[in-house]
Amino acid sequence: MKFDAVIIGSGLGGLLCGNILSKEGFSVCILEKNNKLGGSLQTFGRKGCIFNTGLNYTESLDEGQVLNQYFRYFGLHHKLPLKRLDTDGFDVIDFYNGRYKLANGHDHYRDTMLQYFPGEKNGLTQYLKKIQDICSSNSFYTLSHRPFNIFENSSMGLGAVDFIQSVISDYRLQNVIAGNNLLYAGHEKKTSLFVHALISNSFIQSAWRIPDGSQQLVNILADNITASGGTIYKNAKAVRLISEKDYVESVELLNGERVEGKYFISNTHPEQILSMTDSQKIKSYFSHRIKSLEDTIGMFTLYLVFKKNSFPYFNYNFYHYNQDNVWIVGDYNPAKWPQNYVFMPTATSKSDVYAESASVITYMHYRELDSWKDTVTGKRGEAYIRFKNEKARTLLESMEKQFPGISSCVDSWYTSTPLTWRDYIGTRAGSAFGILKDYNKPFESIILPRTKIPNLFLTGQNTNLHGILGVTISSVVTCGEIIDIQHLLKKIRNA
Ligand SMILES: Cc1cc2nc3c(=O)[nH]c(=O)nc-3n(C[C@H](O)[C@H](O)[C@H](O)COP(=O)(O)OP(=O)(O)OC[C@H]3O[C@@H](n4cnc5c(N)ncnc54)[C@H](O)[C@@H]3O)c2cc1C
Repeated sequence: MKFDAVIIGSGLGGLLCGNILSKEGFSVCILEKNNKLGGSLQTFGRKGCIFNTGLNYTESLDEGQVLNQYFRYFGLHHKLPLKRLDTDGFDVIDFYNGRYKLANGHDHYRDTMLQYFPGEKNGLTQYLKKIQDICSSNSFYTLSHRPFNIFENSSMGLGAVDFIQSVISDYRLQNVIAGNNLLYAGHEKKTSLFVHALISNSFIQSAWRIPDGSQQLVNILADNITASGGTIYKNAKAVRLISEKDYVESVELLNGERVEGKYFISNTHPEQILSMTDSQKIKSYFSHRIKSLEDTIGMFTLYLVFKKNSFPYFNYNFYHYNQDNVWIVGDYNPAKWPQNYVFMPTATSKSDVYAESASVITYMHYRELDSWKDTVTGKRGEAYIRFKNEKARTLLESMEKQFPGISSCVDSWYTSTPLTWRDYIGTRAGSAFGILKDYNKPFESIILPRTKIPNLFLTGQNTNLHGILGVTISSVVTCGEIIDIQHLLKKIRNA
């Protein structure tokens, strides 16, 4: 078996690279270790309900907005069902003593905030202009002809918190603005303004759920590849890269089979590539750097099945904080768990009135799972199940203060921890979003798609940015190393 492009991993990045290269006439082969495609975009079903794992809402899908144009190019436009979140408050940021709405559209966002913070007009105007300017300076965001050099973007070396504090004087407003920073596992002393701006600005433009789940997106992208003659192997774990004269020749699978190719793209955590190759070229370059880089914190998710017609569906995401400071990660304390959570009812095509299920996400540090780090999914033992159930109960009890009676609406629950992510997706230490983009070391934490092996490339959340938009741009940047980037951008612009 020999292909033009062999892609290791069917996460969003792998599937999008497969789509781009198939469209350019490459024979593509995707290797996925699991029996389900999609990586963090896969869904699962329990008691007739669908649960998203790593795509609860998405952004900038209105006409003329960045992801809308990418969706057109990838054939997702009009095929994927979308439900717009409340434009007056797509995210609600809740503290024990105040509740604030983040509205869509810059003017609407500012005017809504001014109702709570009437003295902050200048600061809000400066804030919104800056995050918009940062996005406009990125040619993958504007799809312009101008070449974009991430190293020249000064906001990579600026702290999000420092900037927010420099323009906004009210402490509560500083926190409300960053109140959905769980979207990027925000760290007070590490998260760059670039990461905050790209994500915040995109969601302020427009925010959406995918009724009936994100697996539909995966299926469309996979179908596009097979319709173009591409091949997708499930249960095909890549274990070794076989090289000849500094080029990768084939990938060896766990079952011993080999898949040959001309180009190889890894959609996995870069550390996996280190474990798969003997090439000193890449090892000496990567080893120290990748090992020294920190990953973002992991997540604990509580998946709730509600009793029939018992809990109302609401069309926004509810971020709650049990403290004033929303930058939890640097201050994470298991003794105070949960310090925050985001509560998101699942959108379905069945009902807009009642929620049949919901996901509740909060942080969890890998260290807390130390006792089970040498176990695998489904075989971690009774103590682990007790630990998870205790956490689920604690989280629900905490939610009772904001949603009195919610526990009585729950039919059943399921949970996942960073160990789940480590074992299903292969992220290091169960990290949610891969390598942390630290503004204190902006150059070290940017992983470029090109490696020291000329025909081996990286893609996915570790290379550019995580999330549906970040990974989409990452796939374009990666493929731009193999095909002409201006030609590709033109095709996307004209889609
Ligand atoms: C709890 C949570 C909630 C999230 N919510 C949102 C959200 O609401 N909106 C949003 O935009 N983003 C969200 N994200 C982020 C988003 O899901 C990810 O950034 C994105 O899906 C990552 O895509 P990726 O291409 O990097 O690949 P991944 O999803 O990391 O997939 C990698 C793939 O490679 C496969 N693989 C690994 N090793 C091998 C191997 N050796 N051989 C073969 N295959 C292998 C894995 O099985 C997997 O399929 C969330 C993430 C988490 C954890």
